[in-house]
Amino acid sequence: MNTQSLPPAPAGQADENKLIHFWPSEQCAYCRRFTSVALLDVAIEQWFAPVCPLHGYASAYTSAPTPREVIDGRASIERFVVWMHAEQGRVVLVSPVEPDQVPGYQVSIDPFTFEPLAWHCRYESSGGERKDVHVIWETDAHQFFLYEQGQRVREREREVLS
Ligand SMILES: [Zn+2]
Repeated sequence: MNTQSLPPAPAGQADENKLIHFWPSEQCAYCRRFTSVALLDVAIEQWFAPVCPLHGYASAYTSAPTPREVIDGRASIERFVVWMHAEQGRVVLVSPVEPDQVPGYQVSIDPFTFEPLAWHCRYESSGGERKDVHVIWETDAHQFFLYEQGQRVREREREVLS
């Protein structure tokens, strides 16, 4: 039997997806918004996808995220929540939950859809008021959805023009 094992990957060379900032901005790969954030996917070489806050979940390459992937994933969720609040305030808590724990979210029973990802977040306005919100990432729709007080938030509170 061949017991030879592969050498360990050099430190800092682990396969991981990355969220990067770039300039000048480009159009989102999924809509017409301009953005200066992009995702790099290990699985697809030379793949560079500009993504707006709505379409930009930084997923990990494997089910065991690297430290950077954890930070990038969280940053992409925070970016979406703050964007939904007209780029005001901040997110002070992000914790994963089961999709059926999101009030107002109807979990699909279609076996051919991907299980969505869900998080509970605590949002703090610029005035210091805190509220609990939920975020869903639907892989099939490739976008985030925000839930507050048992309802999906369909529009941004105020469209920010740049
Ligand atoms: Zn987009």
